[in-house]
Order: sequence, then C-alpha cells, then structure tokens
Amino acid sequence: MPDYKRTLVTSALPYANGPLHVGHIAGAYLPADIYVRYCRLKKRDVVFICGSDENGVPIMLRARFEGVNPQEIVDRYHAMIEESFARLGMSFDYYGRTSSAVHRETSRSFFRKLNDKKQFITKSEDQLYDPEAGFFLADRFIFGECPNCNYEKAYGDQCEKCGSSLSPADLINPRSSITNAKPVLKKTTHWYLPLEKIQPDLENWINQQSHWRPNVLGQVKSWLDAGLHDRAVTRDLPWGVSVPEEIAEAAGVEAAGKVLYVWFDAPIGYISATKEWAQQQGDPQLWKKYWQDKDSRLIHFIGKDNIVFHCLIFPAMLMKHGDYVLPENVPANEFLNLEGQKLSTSRNYAVWLHEYLEKFEPDSLRYALCSNMPETKDADFSWSEFQARHNNELADILGNFVNRTFTFIEKYFDGTLPPKGQLDALDGELVARISAAGENIGRAIDSFQFKEASRHFMDLARFANKYFNDKAPWKSRKENISVCATALHLCVEMTYALGVLMQPVLPFTAGKIRKILALDERQMDDWEKAAEFPLAAGHRFGQVEIIFAKIEDEKIRTEIERLQQTTNAETSKAEREQDSQITIDEFAQIQLKVAEIVAAEPLKETKKLLKLQVQLGDEKRQVIAGIAGFYAPADLIGKQVVVVSNLKPAKLRGDISEGMILAATDADGQLSIISPDKKIKPGSAVK
Ligand SMILES: [Zn+2]
Repeated sequence: MPDYKRTLVTSALPYANGPLHVGHIAGAYLPADIYVRYCRLKKRDVVFICGSDENGVPIMLRARFEGVNPQEIVDRYHAMIEESFARLGMSFDYYGRTSSAVHRETSRSFFRKLNDKKQFITKSEDQLYDPEAGFFLADRFIFGECPNCNYEKAYGDQCEKCGSSLSPADLINPRSSITNAKPVLKKTTHWYLPLEKIQPDLENWINQQSHWRPNVLGQVKSWLDAGLHDRAVTRDLPWGVSVPEEIAEAAGVEAAGKVLYVWFDAPIGYISATKEWAQQQGDPQLWKKYWQDKDSRLIHFIGKDNIVFHCLIFPAMLMKHGDYVLPENVPANEFLNLEGQKLSTSRNYAVWLHEYLEKFEPDSLRYALCSNMPETKDADFSWSEFQARHNNELADILGNFVNRTFTFIEKYFDGTLPPKGQLDALDGELVARISAAGENIGRAIDSFQFKEASRHFMDLARFANKYFNDKAPWKSRKENISVCATALHLCVEMTYALGVLMQPVLPFTAGKIRKILALDERQMDDWEKAAEFPLAAGHRFGQVEIIFAKIEDEKIRTEIERLQQTTNAETSKAEREQDSQITIDEFAQIQLKVAEIVAAEPLKETKKLLKLQVQLGDEKRQVIAGIAGFYAPADLIGKQVVVVSNLKPAKLRGDISEGMILAATDADGQLSIISPDKKIKPGSAVK
C-alpha cells in the first residue's frame, strides 16, 4: 500500500429513478464499503462519499410518464436508495444528492474555472426544438417512425422494437413527446470538452497506472486506441444544473434552459458531497485536504459501464481544472448476472435490494456477493449458491463454532471466561493462524481482491471449528479440566479475532459477537490487535444467541419461482407471436428477389440511411436502407442481397425507395444483411 496520508473513497452515484438491485451492490458499493471499513480498522484517515445522481433525461421522462414533477421522482428514489443502503450496512461518511445547492454551486464554479482557463470550445449546430414547449428536445423526447422497421413509436436515439440506434434526423415524421408538436430545427450552441486535444495528456497519465486492474486498463486503452472525441458538456434541458448565466451571455447564448450535461456534473457530485460532509464536521475547508493535497489518495469504486467516465473523462476535467488530485486507482468490477441471465431493470429480472432486505439478513448477501465478486470477469448470482453460502459456510462453520463455544462455556464454566493454562502444539497453531489470517485478509483487501479475503476468513473459521472438534472439550472436561479450560479460552480468543476480521464483510454479525462477548464498541475496533485478546479469566459473557439461522429450501424456491415467472411470461409472449401463422399463399404474395448492389452513398442529412442502386435482372432500382451504421458504402458494391421487390414505393426524406433489403437484427442492435450463399443471377426469385 503506497504511502498516503489520507484516502477518499467514492462509490458511483446511483441514478435516482429506480430502486437498487444486487448487480449494483456487487459492482460499486459492497467492495467500497468493505475497503473503507477495513481502512477504519487499520486506523487510516479515510472518508467515504456517495450520493444520488438526480439530473438527466431519464428522470424527466419518468416524471412525465407518472405525470409528476421531476423533484418528486428524485425525492422518492433518493429516500428509498438511502434507506436500502443503510439497511445493507453501507457506511458512507456522507450521502449527498446532486439537486443540492452546494452541488449546483460547486458544478457551476468548476465549469467557470474551465471556461476561464479556455479549456472549452463551443460549437453551434442545428437541433430539434419544440416550438410549443419552448425548449430543445433531447433525443429521447422525440419519437417517430423507425426508418428500419417502420415502428411508429421509435425514440430519437433508439428504436425499441428493432433495437437499431438512431439519431432524431432519421425518424420519419418526428414528433415531440412533450407536446406532440412537429419539432423544428433551430440553431443552438454548446460547450465541449476538447478530448481530442487532451488525449495525449491522458495517455501520458494512464501509462503511469500499471497497478490498475488489467480489465480496467484494457478498456481504457481500447477507448484511447479508437481515439477520443470532443464531448458536449452542456445540454438544452429544463432540468439540471444551469450554465452560469454570465458565461452564456458573454457567448451570446440564451442562458435559460441551458444546463450542464449530466455526465459532467455527476462526478463533481463527489466533490460537493465531500464539501457538505466537511460542513457537517464543523470544518468547512476540510474537504480540500482530501481533494487538493498531493498526499491524498482518491479511489473510485464503479461498475465497468462507468470506466470511460472515471478513468478518462473525469480525470481530464480534474487535470484541466488544475486544483485537484487525480484518482490513484479505479477498481471497477465487471457485471453480475442472475441465474445465468443478464439482470434487467426494465424486464424486472432482478433481485431488488429493498425486497431482499424484507426477507433475509444483510450479512448473508454481503458474504455471498463478496465470495463471488465479479472482480476480473462477470460472475453469476444464483439463489441456490446464496443458500449454500449461508447454510454451509456462515451457519455450519462460523455460526456453529461460536454457538458451541459459548453454549459449552455457559453450561460448564458458568458463562465466564475460563483460565488459560499451558499451550500444546495445536493451541500454538491456533494462535499463529490468527496472526497470519489478519495479514492475509488485509493484503487481499488492500489489493482489492475481495473474493480472496473472504476465502481467508472462512478458512480461519473452518480451522476454528475443527480445533473445537479435535480438542473434544466434552471429553477433557472429565479427564483434565485445565486442558479443557485452555481450549475454551482459546476458542474465545478466536471468536474475538474473527469478530475483528469479519467486520469489513459482516458488520452486523460482528455486532452480535460483540454482544455475546459483552464488549463495548471500542474493544473490537483495531485490525492490528485482532490477536491481542483484551479479556481476563472470569469475564462474564452475554446471552448466547444463534448468529445464523438456516435458510429453508421453501424460501429459496419462492425466489427462484418469481424469476422463472418473469422469464416464462416473456417466453409465452414469444410463443403467442409464433402462433400468428400464415398460409403458403399469403407468403407467396411477398416477392423476394436477389439483387446486386451497383452503387451506394449516404443519404444527405441523415446518419443511418444509405441510398443504394441495385440491379434486379434487367431492371435497376433505388432502395433506401437504414444500414449506414453497419456498412460502409464502398463495401457494399457488388454485394448480392435479397429485396422485397413488390413493396409499394415510398418516399424517404425526399428520395424514392423502390423495395426493401432483408436484414437481421439482434437484441444488441447488431444488424446483418441477408446475402445468397453463393453468387447467383440477379433477379432470381427467392422462395
Ligand atoms: Zn425499428
């Protein structure tokens, strides 16, 4: 662990438009909490910051969908997320929100500084504007007919029916989803972070981060290899942190409705939350020590979908601002799947944290996720593995050891600590194992290898359980009471050590151990002293309690069935669609022919459409196809394709299209043209 005076740890700001699920927890939150709790036990100066991300288009859309004000949406989910975090034991020093006044001012002054240092460029371009609502429309606020599949309700950035990604200009008959008005093109000006120009500085900095996880560096390098593009840092939206008015005015731009783009203000949320924390500490300047002192170490815990923002874009902002430290590490996790499938919020295919906490213990989830964390590759959460981790490890090993130790003491030593006598070899091994475990677990956590940390911990508990068996105190009690007392004394020392070492992963269970040991808070809070047992013979213990009750099969079955119902509902929908069968005569009405592409060019003023000239036997036709995102015009020349040749001609953006090219699209939005297996005469019928 490098030599730093203090550490600032952040977890990705959850977006306040829905509840949290286990995938979020495994990605950015649990690993950060484990790390921070460990740092606190190591008596390091550490501050742990998070908060709700409350700006951006999805929140506005949600508000519109529910017919309420965006503030109502963020108030609801901020409260819900904060409560779920608390119940899971997330030990943030401060949990803020990006709708706060401090955040607004911090973001605006950050923007001002970059603007004063001439770090932005501005670009003016035509964008769609809702003349009735009186503001520019984000892509999501525009709907219209999809040029690829003719779905009527495609969004300006994507068609949810065929999955293809679109830009608003591609839509046929576009409409504002706010007022249903026809949007008009209007000139607008935006501020850009010139990442193309900053790229060499970023590359130079990234090259010094060889200690980062290989999967993180791999993704960063592929972004750099592809070349960064300038990114707009402002947006025309009625919801968000407004651009400083004097800057807008100086640029001759109307300030009203001009806000910071959410990707720009969200990471600044870490800074504003730290400021609010400092105020709460009664030392308003304290935040500067963590953000602006070279001896401070900044660590961002995130999921892999946030790598580009935390490893390139936010560092570029910090770098160009000049007053801040850059992240020392960004231990991003990969994704967590659920029962072998992708988690999906929109399909309700998820284990929701607030629902989980109604039915199970927080520590069981913390342990299951920690033991199976998606550190370097995607991992899978399954309910049966969750049950096995709880029943076979937490209950049968750790819980059993603690329970039998204190039940025995209560029965035969009057509930007080037995005296320690002469140690034999096995006793010596127990003492040595405690010290070694402290070092091994600590090293693993310091290098963000949480799975390994939980393995070392459970190995120690497993040894403890076996020690109890091997010592057979139920026998030595009758044969040599001093040997029996020593064994039980050491079992208590082991319980104490486990109580210290389990705190990062199992904080609630550690609380139960503390109660059984009848200790106060300050007596089990030093990682280095896990092996320095503080109690003297005769100390009276608290009530013995079962620390982990087994989870019954029935409870697990209910959870698995709920997920299967989600999947089944989708399957039966797919089957219903299959049921809409047609006759051979109906099929014969569609004339399919092989065509050869002889010319291809982009259709003017569109990003997704290509204008193709195709040869169909003796006949030549023009076809407009929404494939520009997938094929370069030059690569298409000479390619044979299948066209629907008797489709009614249609006008697309002023150009005639006399047919449709067959292509397959998948759920990820990939598109592939259907082509004959080998060359065949153009005009041949396809049946
Ligand atoms: Zn479509």
